[in-house]
Amino acid sequence: MTDALNCLMLPGDGIGPEIIESAETVLQSLISIYELPVQISHGVIGLKALAQTGTTMPPDVEQCMRAADMIVLGPLDTMAYVPDEGGINVSAFCRTELGMFANLRPCVSLNSSALKSMDLLIVREASEGFYADRNMYRGLGEMQLTEDVAISVRKITRQQSERIARIAFEAARERRSHVTAVHKANNFRITDGLFLEAVRAVATEFPDVILSDQLVDSMAALLVRQPEVFDVILTTNLFGDILSDLASELSGSLGIGGGLLAGTHQCAAQAQHGSALDIAGTGRANPLSILRSLALMLEWISINRGIDQCKHASIVLETAIRTLVVDRLILTPDLGGTASCQEVTSAILSSLSELRETSE
Ligand code: ATP
Repeated sequence: MTDALNCLMLPGDGIGPEIIESAETVLQSLISIYELPVQISHGVIGLKALAQTGTTMPPDVEQCMRAADMIVLGPLDTMAYVPDEGGINVSAFCRTELGMFANLRPCVSLNSSALKSMDLLIVREASEGFYADRNMYRGLGEMQLTEDVAISVRKITRQQSERIARIAFEAARERRSHVTAVHKANNFRITDGLFLEAVRAVATEFPDVILSDQLVDSMAALLVRQPEVFDVILTTNLFGDILSDLASELSGSLGIGGGLLAGTHQCAAQAQHGSALDIAGTGRANPLSILRSLALMLEWISINRGIDQCKHASIVLETAIRTLVVDRLILTPDLGGTASCQEVTSAILSSLSELRETSE
């Protein structure tokens, strides 16, 4: 009997508690149907933790995160976090301190609510780039020289660029064997130049995969014009964040784009969207993005820990989600329906039971 893997639930801010409750209910169901060797634990982070303990990431939660095999991470209202006043970005902590450098964001259009037809995967480097809270050894990569002058620093390393490129090429091998590297090397000749050089070096290890490249501005236009031609889009941190929101919304809704943060030892399911404060507490939050992230997490665990049941559970969950969206059965308002987060969760649970019965 395999030792149980620990899955830590961290609800976060805004719509976080609603969608993480949905994710926990669905994971519990999968654990019992497929006898997954997974044990669920809980932690409080974000603004609730700040009010209770003075920090958005209390030390005991940090310890649990370090020890967890996988994390289901809710969205964070980081705009409200003040670094000097306990505002620690938990997502950035995962990406830097816990080594989850790869952010995988599939964007697949499933039904007529999609503005564009696509089936692509954005592979985004998540641990460096233009993000001020993760690109320095000490201090922040952003500073104000005078009242009217501010500067940001962008960090690109050969090592991280090669690592993320390998993830993209390996993913392309399992898909349609085409990687498009997105950059702005005409202006950022040194930083994006280094990124491109590293990607081209890695490409020589994958002669069966085609490599093309695009400037990030033309990529934004092409995603609107003909997203169906892209397979794997490989890019740096900030570009990946922006392009994935664009692609995800074009594919149907930000509320259905799953995301995974992956490292060498741990991974975290993290929805593509943010804390969506405008709909928090209204029941309108679409749980499908975090549920698809859960499916990606189970797939990663199956590959990295060799647990076949997790692969099976991942496929069945993704099938249940696709069926719900394709058949336009029970959908939240962002997808044109009237259902609540809880009603969508119940529909997924029923579908999981039905899929189990048909496979028996
Ligand atoms: P953050 O600053 O945390 O990224 P944000 O509100 O700027 O938050 P998102 O949370 O990604 O950005 O929301 C962008 C828009 O998409 C909002 O109008 C929001 O209501 C909608 N949205 C995001 N996630 C969902 C979801 N799961 N279900 C329904 N609508 C969503």
